[in-house]
Amino acid sequence: MPDYTLIRSDRKTLALEIARDGRLIVRAPRRMPQGTIDRFLADRAGWIAEKQRLMRAQNAAVQPDGETGTVWYLGRRYALRRHDERDVRFTDDAILLPRDWTPDRLRGWLKEMSRTEIAKRVPAAAAMLGVQPTAVHVTEAKTRWGSCSGKNSLNFAWRLIFCPPDVIDYVVIHELCHIRHKNHSPAFWQMAAQYDPDYKIHKAWLREHAALMDLF
Ligand SMILES: [Zn+2]
Repeated sequence: MPDYTLIRSDRKTLALEIARDGRLIVRAPRRMPQGTIDRFLADRAGWIAEKQRLMRAQNAAVQPDGETGTVWYLGRRYALRRHDERDVRFTDDAILLPRDWTPDRLRGWLKEMSRTEIAKRVPAAAAMLGVQPTAVHVTEAKTRWGSCSGKNSLNFAWRLIFCPPDVIDYVVIHELCHIRHKNHSPAFWQMAAQYDPDYKIHKAWLREHAALMDLF
């Protein structure tokens, strides 16, 4: 029997969820007997183990390496090193940070870079699609990369800075398409495909790297 967190509530059915760190969460009706839950889990032990293995592998693939210190930036993983300058510098495989930078300072810098990347992309993509967002915000969101409100204000997760440029473009185009289509109808995907013919690849990249949302 796998370890799990049991959450009982007024629901009618059992549901399993594998968290991004691989934890198994079981949601059960208040009065369901423990034996029923255990049998349900035993029947699905193989499926659960496989899902957990996948989630843990994805999570491990993106986590910073504690030994050396790494960070994702525009879809690449860089080593973090220190140098005696006051600014950030990139080498082929490393990002050099001022010696006195705390993790918070690094986070702030990544957020700033994210804002710059998004601010650069939205106006150009909006002009291409012929739509106009009412506002653009960069947020702390951890469950979605972007969103478009009923009033056409767009939100983007600052962690998009971890993603490759063409994946950021996809998220920008996706949210801009929501200005025309407030759903994921065939018409919406047709519009997305028109401006990002590789959208399926980009969508899959985000799915495989969902654990990036838990970094920092
Ligand atoms: Zn959407």
